[in-house]
Amino acid sequence: MSSALQEGGTVVSGESSAAALQDASHVEGQDPVFRMSGVSKVYRMGETQVHALREVDLDLLPGEFVVLLGASGSGKSTLLNILGGLDRPTAGQVRFRDHDLTAATAAELTRYRREHVGFVFQFYNLIPSLTALENVALVTEIAESPLDPGEALSLVEMGERRDHFPAQLSGGEQQRVAIARAVAKRPDVLLCDEPTGALDYATGKLVLRVLQRINEERRTITVVITHNAAIAGLADRVIRISSGRIVDIQRNAIRLTPEDISW
Ligand code: ADP
Ligand code: MG
Repeated sequence: MSSALQEGGTVVSGESSAAALQDASHVEGQDPVFRMSGVSKVYRMGETQVHALREVDLDLLPGEFVVLLGASGSGKSTLLNILGGLDRPTAGQVRFRDHDLTAATAAELTRYRREHVGFVFQFYNLIPSLTALENVALVTEIAESPLDPGEALSLVEMGERRDHFPAQLSGGEQQRVAIARAVAKRPDVLLCDEPTGALDYATGKLVLRVLQRINEERRTITVVITHNAAIAGLADRVIRISSGRIVDIQRNAIRLTPEDISW
């Protein structure tokens, strides 16, 4: 845990004031799909309290591609996990369409995750004893109106490798299968926690291109966590987080492709 967090230090970048951030986080004119208001998260570990999030306000709009940037320990995963119903805030409210996720029972949160949220993590989390196709089918079997598992694999250009086991696939290929699994349920939001963190440069770009293409074709709200500032160019909006606070929100006039950026 970082000392800045324990001291409660907050870094505000550039000219952004609290009021300006408030405006940027609640966008007028379009109904948000997600609305986080005053979300705080405190982890208690014995005597110590860790303020992972501090009064975060954030809306997510239909079809948005958002990059969430921040140093290690700044609260990125906590924010993502709360959006995805894997964790609950200590204070504040999270709304998904008409639903108040903060008031949901455990069973309701499970249903919310199952029907509406696709997760992609740094380390793929595929089941080693199942083929690519079977890994995807595991999810589509319990989803309401899923894609065909083979079609989901084709979306990430892994249709030819459907009968391969994870151990027979490279890291980038495994991550593409994990993305197919996440999008196969036709989620409303795709939450990606450092999806390229374990991949080499070229493979990382390939995976980002897949995420961007799915966002373009399916209009799935996509949130990508990274500490790689170059990836910010791919987004509609870039949210910078530091010591549990949103310190900057930037809107890109144009979205770059992974081919346009380098790091
Ligand atoms: P990031 O993803 O930006 O690296 P996290 O959201 O994982 O940051 O963590 C934010 C802060 O909350 C860190 O100080 C981290 O140690 C702490 N934290 C995260 N999860 C837990 C947990 N389950 N229990 C205690 N502290 C946690
Ligand atoms: Mg994290």
